[in-house]
Amino acid sequence: MEFPEPPEVTASAEWGLQRLIAGNQRFLRGEARFPTVCKETLADLARGQQPFATILGCSDSRVPPELIFDANFGELFIVRVAGNVISPEVMGSLQYAGAHLRTPLFVVLGHEGCGAVEAALKTKREGHEHRARIQLLVNSILPGLPDINSQASTVEQMNVAVEANVRWSIHQILETQEGKNAIKAGAKFVGAVYEIASGRVRLLS
Ligand SMILES: [Zn+2]
Repeated sequence: MEFPEPPEVTASAEWGLQRLIAGNQRFLRGEARFPTVCKETLADLARGQQPFATILGCSDSRVPPELIFDANFGELFIVRVAGNVISPEVMGSLQYAGAHLRTPLFVVLGHEGCGAVEAALKTKREGHEHRARIQLLVNSILPGLPDINSQASTVEQMNVAVEANVRWSIHQILETQEGKNAIKAGAKFVGAVYEIASGRVRLLS
């Protein structure tokens, strides 16, 4: 499948989103085009990068964004941290992506079965204290977790929590003045959940 060229020098947010979706579909069909080693591409990229999307994803080994979206070198600017949480360093990386790389599309990519979210649920439900630095991560997730029906199955509770955590990260980005400015300038902030058993990326509305 070929993609049309972006309408302007900087790809539009919607164009980037369609490109990610198409890449995930190729991945699902077993028709991924990347990774490939193309010396010309590498030589081009040695001169600079112009990724079309920024992804804030989880460190989980089962959720590698380039593979899931069948993207090439230089196409995605990726920040990965357990639980796709927001921290000053993560914000700094996102700010760099917006201000210097000018990616028009930002995706917060959570995933089913996220251990960091599960740890946060354990603290919320049982008051469980994790090891100090893990607890720091968990503390970043807790404010975004809603009260979850304890009668629901564990899987259902996790699904609710994972989605809420994605929305929480987006909320924190959009609370910043730069996030608001980016929206005005036409940038898009999209939440998504990777379905770990199927390989499908589900966009949150
Ligand atoms: Zn995770």
